[in-house]
Amino acid sequence: MGGRAVVKVHEGRLDPNAPLVLSTHELGRRPGTMRTLRRTVPAPADLGIAVIGVPEGSDLELDLRLEAVMEGVLVSGTVRGRAVGECVRCLTEVSQDVEVEVQELFAYPGKTPAEVGEDDDEVREIAPGELIDLEPTVRDAIVLELPFQPECDGPCQQDYEIGVSERTLGEAEDTEEPADPRWAALQGLLEQQPGQTPSDTREKS
Ligand SMILES: [Zn+2]
Repeated sequence: MGGRAVVKVHEGRLDPNAPLVLSTHELGRRPGTMRTLRRTVPAPADLGIAVIGVPEGSDLELDLRLEAVMEGVLVSGTVRGRAVGECVRCLTEVSQDVEVEVQELFAYPGKTPAEVGEDDDEVREIAPGELIDLEPTVRDAIVLELPFQPECDGPCQQDYEIGVSERTLGEAEDTEEPADPRWAALQGLLEQQPGQTPSDTREKS
């Protein structure tokens, strides 16, 4: 356990001006120190999936708590934004409010996963400059919250429902229709085989 290397999730120096890069400096490594952070920031790029996401630059409301603990800084709270995408059926623009809960521990540099109490080998570390990058955490949470197949609640929903019922009716009718004549002929042959009545009679005569 002690031999496992710490996987540093941050990549070197963070940009202190990035919207989701936060400073932990004020907490001063004193366990129990807490700071609340309420701020509206511009959403970073790629905050979503191909069909729907929070547009880059749109408002992202942060309502967070930064708390110094023994192992590092625990960040928790909610993040809100408005996702915009396309209806998968009619491509009309759809939008919906997204609110996600986040919780992430950022360890002081040099801590092993065991020391931090993580089961996996991944520990998010506080980067040089006492900065943390909340962007991956927020992205993961938002992606999980978004629908894979966004749907509008406009007329295409009704069309779709009508389409479904027509298809269901069609399937029901199909089962009552007589089978394809070619299959019927084959079916007849198969049914004759077990008793082999026709050939038997021919041999006898
Ligand atoms: Zn639609």
